[in-house]
Amino acid sequence: MSQPIHISCQFDSGNIEVINSESEDNIRLAIRNDNNSDFYQWFHFKVHGQSDQNYRFCIENASDAAYAAGWEDYQAVASYDRETWFRVDTDYRDGQLIIEHTHQHEVIYYAYFAPYSYERHLDLLQFCQSSPIAKLEHLGSTLDGRDMTLAIIGEPETAQNIVWMIARQHPGESMAEWLVEGFLQKLLDDSDPMARQLLSNTVFYVVPNMNPDGSVRGHLRTNAAGANLNREWLEPTMDRSPEVLLVRQKMQATGVDVFLDIHGDEAIPYNFLASCEGIPSYNDERAASQDKFRQAFLESSPDFQIKHGYPVAEPGQANLTMATTWVAETFGCVSFTLEMPFKDNLDLPDEVFGWSPERCMRLGEAICYPILKSIQ
Ligand code: ZN
Repeated sequence: MSQPIHISCQFDSGNIEVINSESEDNIRLAIRNDNNSDFYQWFHFKVHGQSDQNYRFCIENASDAAYAAGWEDYQAVASYDRETWFRVDTDYRDGQLIIEHTHQHEVIYYAYFAPYSYERHLDLLQFCQSSPIAKLEHLGSTLDGRDMTLAIIGEPETAQNIVWMIARQHPGESMAEWLVEGFLQKLLDDSDPMARQLLSNTVFYVVPNMNPDGSVRGHLRTNAAGANLNREWLEPTMDRSPEVLLVRQKMQATGVDVFLDIHGDEAIPYNFLASCEGIPSYNDERAASQDKFRQAFLESSPDFQIKHGYPVAEPGQANLTMATTWVAETFGCVSFTLEMPFKDNLDLPDEVFGWSPERCMRLGEAICYPILKSIQ
């Protein structure tokens, strides 16, 4: 090899371990576990090499990652400018994830999905504050000392409907915050008629990032203590899951009419909603209001579909430690988990970018319509 390459990840959401980088056609890497946890799958690293050189990276511990099925037909993303993330040749073979790419410049970044940085998260909150109809509320602090910030859009005192949206309980699912950005841009656009109609009688409580510690640490699924926040909703504690405890307390103070928890799914190459069928209070009336939301979402975006998704829980078999089921049971409201793909939406595939930040943002705009239908 003409010149050794340098691989690093000591930056926001960085995650990789270099085993051996001596040979450009067999650069051996591993993904680090989430702190205090067995979960891992998120990777994000920087490679300083040579332009016009072909490199082959092998992530050797891919088969023991949280969702190995997520590597089948998956293409990693890469970027030269940290703005545009394009897909690169990726193969899952013999338990290893192999990324092969000819670098056009010396420095390139690779990631599991287009990262949504902590700085961009802070910018998004300030964008909200600059609107006359939005306010920010400090809910408390995370275990690493980051702020849990809630954006309140609309008039809490006079609103007849209360909508909550949370994202990134699982920090490696960065697509969730891209969706929230698109959603907030539409909602705060005062020349958007649907936003005006929604805000005439509805208040929105939005937590763009439920897990800032995990996001900055480069985790897939857990917070700083190794807690999977989407299994903490029944009995959250300040020691283990302050993020959930703080948000839950605020929800109990405001009430909830519509709840949306935004996620990404490693394996399924479609957008879909997971509902709350297995909760004790589920009945025909609840099913009808959940279905009304789904049908309106089908009308508002061809990127949404209902053919592919998770198996439906049997009656009474819901896991009430999850946000969607706990909220549905506690508030008797419309409640969904929205899952977006890490891979692509196979109904409308994009060979260059796959499922991308831009598409997430469009879906965030499109979700306004089913919300409107649900509260009408
Ligand atoms: Zn998730």
